[in-house]
Amino acid sequence: MNYREVLLSILKLEEMKNWTNVSVSGGIDRFIENNKEKLFVINNSSSFKKLLDSSYTEMNKSQRKKWVKLLNDFLITKNVNIDSTSFKEEEQFSNYERNIQLLSGSLSNLPTVGKSLLGKLKKLGLNCIEDLIYLSPNYYRDFSVITKIRDISSDNIHTVVANVWETRVLRRGKSFRKDTEAIIGDETGNCKAVWYGQPFVAKNLKTKSQFVFSGQVKSYKGINVLQSPEYEVVFDSKELIHTGRLVPVYPLTKGLSGKNIRKLTKFVLDNYLQCISEVVPLTIRKQQNLLDINLAIMKLHYPSTMKDAEIARRTLVFTELLLLQLGLLLKKPKKNQNIKTPMLVFDEVFYSYIVNLFPFELTEDQSKVIKEILNDMNQKSIPMNRLLQGEVGSGKTVVAFTAMLICVKNGFQSVLMAPTEILAEQHFNTLDALLRNFGTVKTELNIIKLENNDKFLDGITIGLLTGGMSQKEKQMMRNKISMGDIDIVVGTQSLIQEDTLIPKLGLAVIDEQHRFGVLQRASLREKSLDLLPHILTMSATPIPRSLALTFYGELDISTIRQLPKGRQKVATKLIPLSDIHKAYKFLRKQIELGRQAFVVCPLISESESLQIKSAEEEFERLSKLIFPELKIGLLHGKMKSKEKDEIMQEFKNNRINILVSTPVIEVGIDIPNASVILIETAERFGLSQLHQLRGRVGRGDHKSYCVLVAETSGEFAEERLKAMEKSYDGFELAEVDLKLRGPGDYLGTRQSGLPDFRIANLNDTNIISSARNEAQKILNNDPSLYKNNKLRLETERFLNRFDIELPEKS
Ligand code: ADP
Ligand code: MG
Repeated sequence: MNYREVLLSILKLEEMKNWTNVSVSGGIDRFIENNKEKLFVINNSSSFKKLLDSSYTEMNKSQRKKWVKLLNDFLITKNVNIDSTSFKEEEQFSNYERNIQLLSGSLSNLPTVGKSLLGKLKKLGLNCIEDLIYLSPNYYRDFSVITKIRDISSDNIHTVVANVWETRVLRRGKSFRKDTEAIIGDETGNCKAVWYGQPFVAKNLKTKSQFVFSGQVKSYKGINVLQSPEYEVVFDSKELIHTGRLVPVYPLTKGLSGKNIRKLTKFVLDNYLQCISEVVPLTIRKQQNLLDINLAIMKLHYPSTMKDAEIARRTLVFTELLLLQLGLLLKKPKKNQNIKTPMLVFDEVFYSYIVNLFPFELTEDQSKVIKEILNDMNQKSIPMNRLLQGEVGSGKTVVAFTAMLICVKNGFQSVLMAPTEILAEQHFNTLDALLRNFGTVKTELNIIKLENNDKFLDGITIGLLTGGMSQKEKQMMRNKISMGDIDIVVGTQSLIQEDTLIPKLGLAVIDEQHRFGVLQRASLREKSLDLLPHILTMSATPIPRSLALTFYGELDISTIRQLPKGRQKVATKLIPLSDIHKAYKFLRKQIELGRQAFVVCPLISESESLQIKSAEEEFERLSKLIFPELKIGLLHGKMKSKEKDEIMQEFKNNRINILVSTPVIEVGIDIPNASVILIETAERFGLSQLHQLRGRVGRGDHKSYCVLVAETSGEFAEERLKAMEKSYDGFELAEVDLKLRGPGDYLGTRQSGLPDFRIANLNDTNIISSARNEAQKILNNDPSLYKNNKLRLETERFLNRFDIELPEKS
C-alpha cells in the first residue's frame, strides 16, 4: 500500500468533512500513531515528524485547516518549512476557553431557532449548544436499505429513491383534514405516497426532483402507498440525514418534529463539533477500544451500523463516567493529619434512658440497627459511612434521632437533611414530638429547646433551616449554628449548597439519599473545617446490594425489614382506566365516612414544568367535573414553601378532602386520616415508587386502600403491577422490578442518586468499574490533575453542571 496516497486521500476527505476528524475510523491521531514507521518512510525530516506528532484531536478548526494544508504540501513537494510554533500549548489553551464559550452559548445563536422553538427545546432540557451535541437518540430507524419500487411490498418499511411526478392536496370526505398525495417513481415503476393531515408537504416536494422516501407501505386496491414517509431531497454533495440510512430518533415534544430536531443536531455537529475537546487520554482510549470523542459523537447521531452506534455510545458513557469518578475521587477527603473524626462514645445508661422514654417499644430491627450505628461511631478516627434502608414508616427517623442524641451527648452537633422542604419540616415536627417525651419543650421561631430535663439532655436545641425561610431568618439560624448554639440542625439540601458552617459536626444524617446523589454527599465533608463527620444515609428505596456496591463504594448497609407492630396492610387493587369512575365512587364513599384521599397525577414527562401543568389540569378536572362538591387541594414541587405548608396544614386538619399531587412528592408525608391513594398511570412507575406512594396511607387506625390505575394494558405491565396486589414487602417488590425491568428502569437515573448523565445510565455498571480504575490510575500519577489541566477543567465543568465545586489544587 502506498501510504503517501492513503494519507493524501485522508487529508482530502478531511477537508470535505469540514475538518471534523472523521475521515478515518478511529481518528487521524490514531491512524498516525498506528502507522508511524511507514509514514516516516515518506519523509524522515524532523519537521515532518513534528507535524505528525501534534495532536489533531486537540486542535481547533483553524489549526486543523492549517495542519492539513501543511501536511498536504509536504506530501506533494517534500520541502516545506514548518513553523513549529503554530500548534503551541498556550494557543490551544485559549482556544479551549473560547470553545467552551461557544459550547455553552444559547441555542438562540443558531440560525433557525426563534423564541417558540427555543421554548420547545428547553422542554427537552436543551439549553445550550453542547446539550444538543450530546442529545442522545432514543433509537435508530433503519432506512439504510434502498429498494426498487417494483420490489416494495405491503406492510413493510421501505426506503426508495424516486422522482416526484405529481403532487396534490386533498380533503377526503367530510373531514377538515388535508392530506398531501404524490405520485413518485423510479426506473422500475411508480407508486403513491400520502401524508395524512400534512398539506404543507406538497410545497416541499418539487416535481421532477429526486427524493429519498422512507416509511411503511400499505396496499390499497392493489396500489402500493407509502404512509406519511420521511422524505429528503437528493443532492450529490449532501449527506442524507432523514432517510436512506440509520436515522436517529430523538426525544420529541409537542410541536417539534423529528425532522426539525435532526436538522438542528446536524447543524451543530457540522459547526460546533470541533469545539469539543478530547477528555480520555489516548492510552486509555486505545486500551478500552474507544473512539476519539468527535468521531464518537458523530456516530452517536449518524452511525453506519448498529455496531458503530454501540461503540460510539460506549465511548461517551466511558467519558462521562470517567469524569464522574475523577470528580468523586478528587472530592474524597485526603488523608490529613489535621482532620479528625470524633469518637462518639456509646453510653449504655444514657441509651436505655432515651429508649425507655419513647412512647413505644423499638422493633428488633430498629434496636439491631441502632447498635450497628453506635458501634460505628464509637470507633476512633474512622468515619462511619452507613446506608440505612427501610421502607416508609419502618421507623428510620427514630433510629436517626437516637444516634443524633448520642452525638450531642458527646458534645458534637449533628444535622438531618431531607430532599424537600415539606419533609424537612415534617422531620422537624417529628423530632419536636419525640423530644417532648423527655421534658418540657420551649418553641421559638424555627427552634425547639428542651427544658426541665432531669439530667442528660437539659437545654438540647433543635433548629430548622430551609430554603423557604427569609434571608434574615436563615442568616440568624446560620449564626446560631456556627456559634454552636444549635445541637441538631434539620434542613434541606440548601444546607449543603450554601455556606453554612457547622463547626462541631459529628454526625450527618441524610434522608432519602437517592434524591441527593453521590456527588452532593461528598460536599458534606466540608461543612466543618477540621472534623470529618460520621455519615448515615437513609433510604426508603431498597437498593439491591450489587447495585449499592457499584455506586456507593464502601458503604456499610443496615436494613429495617420489620414494620412496627399493628401496622395494617393497605388493600391494593389494579384497575384499567376505563373503570376509573368506579374508583371515584369509592373515594367519595370514603370521604363521606370522614376519611381523606390522595390522587397522584399521571406521570407524563421528565420535565418538571410540563408535569406541573398537567397536575394543574388534573386538579381543575377533578374539582370542576368529578368532585365539584368536595374540597380539592393541589400540591406540587414548584409551589412556594409557604403555599405548600398551608395546603399540607389544611389537609392535615381535614379541611381538604382530596389532595392532588405530582408524582415527585412521594415520600414520608404523614396524614393518619388519609385512607385512599389513587395512582394514575401506575404502569409508568417503578414498583418501589408505587410501594412508597402506597405508604402514605394506612398510617392511622382506618382500613386503607391503594388504587392503581393503568392507562395502557398489556401483559407485561399487568404482571408487574399485580405484584403490588400480592406483596407488601418493599425488598421483594424491588427484586421483581429489577428482574422484569433491569437496573436502569428499576431505579431510573433520577432515583438512583446518580447525576443526570447525558448518555450513561444505571445499566452501565460494568463500565463504571473500569472508569473508576482508570480514574484512580490517572490520579495516582497526578493527584490534583496538575499535569493534565484540561482533564481537570473538564472534570470541573462536569461537576459544575450539578452545582458542585472542585476542591483547590493541593
Ligand atoms: P420512616 O422514617 O422510616 O418513614 P418514621 O421514623 O417516621 O419512619 O416512623 C413512622 C411512624 O412510626 C412515626 O409516627 C413513629 O413515631 C412511629 N414509630 C417508629 N418506631 C415505632 C415503633 N417501634 N413502634 C411503634 N411506632 C413506631
Ligand atoms: Mg421518613
